[in-house]
Amino acid sequence: MFICYHGLGGKFKYVQDFFQTREISSMDFLTKTFNRKGLEEHLKAVQKSRPDFGLAMLDIDFFKKVNDTYGHAVGDAVLVRVAEVARMMIRKDDVLARFGGEEFLILFASDNIYQLVKSCERIRMAIEKTPFSSTDGTSFNITVSLGVTRYQKGKSLQDNIIVADKALYQSKENGRNKTTSI
Ligand code: GH3
Ligand code: MG
Ligand code: MG
Repeated sequence: MFICYHGLGGKFKYVQDFFQTREISSMDFLTKTFNRKGLEEHLKAVQKSRPDFGLAMLDIDFFKKVNDTYGHAVGDAVLVRVAEVARMMIRKDDVLARFGGEEFLILFASDNIYQLVKSCERIRMAIEKTPFSSTDGTSFNITVSLGVTRYQKGKSLQDNIIVADKALYQSKENGRNKTTSI
């Protein structure tokens, strides 16, 4: 946080930065999605009015290879584009968050497992069809794996993430570019 005390103008700057920092700390700077904290805050805010959710974890397949082949900057651009595509495919009440690295969480406003798998598959297929571009203009494709579960209200977000992560692990084990539900 930048703190500046130069008369009233400086104080205003301090207050402004304080609020901006608070806002930014709920967001992932690179992908402009919620971060884990932002997702937790959102969940708390909507949990009473809408109790049924689904939770998915999405992980980019072989992302290390993308970095190694095309460089870190292209890797960053892939993360941004994946977030954009995923956001385009989800509904207004669903929420996308970056969990860390090349992993995203999606909190769906539904706990119908059939619908949840369908929604994850829509995202997976959209990303599979998206062309990405390297710095020399070469086009390449990537895939993602997903794990999805109904959100268990009695459990913490962290414990629900563990279940979604288990499902994701199965998608990875079974060859990637897949959705698995638990
Ligand atoms: P898997 O299919 O098993 O998920 O393989 P993977 O290569 O995607 O997974 P691994 O965990 O081996 O590698 C993840 C890579 O993600 C390694 C790390 O450098 C990269 N990464 C994490 N955060 C960022 C980021 O913010 N930007 C870029 N460019 N790379 C990142
Ligand atoms: Mg990962
Ligand atoms: Mg990965």
